[in-house]
Amino acid sequence: MNTNDTLSEVKNYIDGQFERNGQNSMNVFSPLDGSIISTLPLSTNSDVDKAVQAAKKAYPSWSSKTLKERVQVFFKYRNLLEQNMDELTKLVRLENGKTYSEAKAEVEKSMELCEFAVSMPQIVVNEVQEVSKGVECRIERKPLGVVASIAPFNFPNMVPHWTIPNALVLGNTMVMKPSELVPLSTVRIAELLKEAGLPDGVFNLVNGGKEVVEAICDHPDIQAVSFVGSTKVAKLVYKRATSNLKRCVALGGAKNHLIVLPDAHEEMTASNVLASMAGCAGQRCMAASVMVGVDNVQHIIDRMVEEAKALVPGDNLGSVITAESKARIEGYIAEAEANGAKILVDGRNVTVLGKEGGYYVGPTIIDYVTTDMSVAREEIFGPVISIIRAKDLDEAIEIENGSNYGNAAAVFTQSGGLAKQVMDRASAGMIGVNIGVPVPREPFSFGGWNESKFGVGDITGRSSIEFWTQNKKTTIKWNPEAKTNWMS
Ligand code: NAD
Repeated sequence: MNTNDTLSEVKNYIDGQFERNGQNSMNVFSPLDGSIISTLPLSTNSDVDKAVQAAKKAYPSWSSKTLKERVQVFFKYRNLLEQNMDELTKLVRLENGKTYSEAKAEVEKSMELCEFAVSMPQIVVNEVQEVSKGVECRIERKPLGVVASIAPFNFPNMVPHWTIPNALVLGNTMVMKPSELVPLSTVRIAELLKEAGLPDGVFNLVNGGKEVVEAICDHPDIQAVSFVGSTKVAKLVYKRATSNLKRCVALGGAKNHLIVLPDAHEEMTASNVLASMAGCAGQRCMAASVMVGVDNVQHIIDRMVEEAKALVPGDNLGSVITAESKARIEGYIAEAEANGAKILVDGRNVTVLGKEGGYYVGPTIIDYVTTDMSVAREEIFGPVISIIRAKDLDEAIEIENGSNYGNAAAVFTQSGGLAKQVMDRASAGMIGVNIGVPVPREPFSFGGWNESKFGVGDITGRSSIEFWTQNKKTTIKWNPEAKTNWMS
């Protein structure tokens, strides 16, 4: 398949064919240097409908295959991800701006997600019980039909894999809408799925923005919608999809608190907190955003300031996604400063030599933040950490509990008892103990609490099996005695 052709102008992928949709288009930029790398058609209702019709047509044949037959495609596909690792990594870097090693880690995670999907025949085992003599109840997991998946910009390769392998292996057919800011990785995903032998129409790709999302939420033939993005849009999508009687799980934004106790290991904690806040330029829903230092953790803060000097934009610190993001992040820093916070490390006004058009923000550490400041409450989505000082653990947990979000929280301490208090009392779906980015690995499930997720269940792992299937309950009266005369 000629990758250059399909990527120079991003096309929809419907019923196994790449096609132009002839509608308005927008430019796709590389945040590394601000250059235009592609154009993207802005699809409409009719494009979504066309994709849904293709997915509907493919459903009877795909869903009637056995689970073991369906996973064969994903064995091949997982290996194609590995074989094309370098190219896929470079594509993520080009369109998203993260570093090569961060982009590679993302593709590796996609492989891991496929490995979970191909293990479904070992996991999805139907239930059966003889409930009275000769009478059996059984529960079988059946697919839903046509489902949809909507993705954000920050993990162009991995987030689509949160849904594609599990949903398809379980027998559904799909319409996918990637972020219009990073559409290229999903085009390659479609190409590789075809190369792996996925039948036409099982996976369809519709590019565009808000209009596509709304058409997905409204389409009567889509049974379930999975969404990942900001809380503002997650709320809109959850309300619209469920009011149209669809199943929906919508993952939103985050404001992750890391509670640091004075007995925490200095070197490990400082480097973990920095890696969490600056990895992927802070554009992770699992990024550390607030560090609550309990009692006196000055030695750890000093070390963070020292180590932040090693984070170099354009080298081991990637770009943020757009010029607007850069301006927004710098605006937050300026506002905190104006409100009396102390900027210990300032990442504003960074330019990278030779990449002057790129969107870079340096690592930023803001101290003496108070809970009423925007930097303490709102998602910044940049390499910025706000430090709030708390007198004791109770106050630190109260600060964490005060957030509207609840994706992740972490504690750094050498005391098991204190760590357990945070594990029990933090109001977040994913907790780290001495780990700054506590992403559950497969088969454990990924998903937050509060305004970081709407809907029941999580998006990956075992919990997703429930989301992508429905139970069929059958009650059977056998005839164990081979009785022939039912009148006596
Ligand atoms: P976003 O909400 O702007 O966009 C997500 C998707 O929604 C995109 O496909 C976009 O085209 C679409 N969209 C945007 N505005 C819309 C509207 N008004 N109506 C309908 N659809 C709309 O998110 P983003 O900026 O691409 O991604 C960053 C956000 O995603 C952050 O808030 C981050 O925390 C969050 N995120 C959360 C998780 C998680 O697991 N909770 C994971 C990754 C990213």
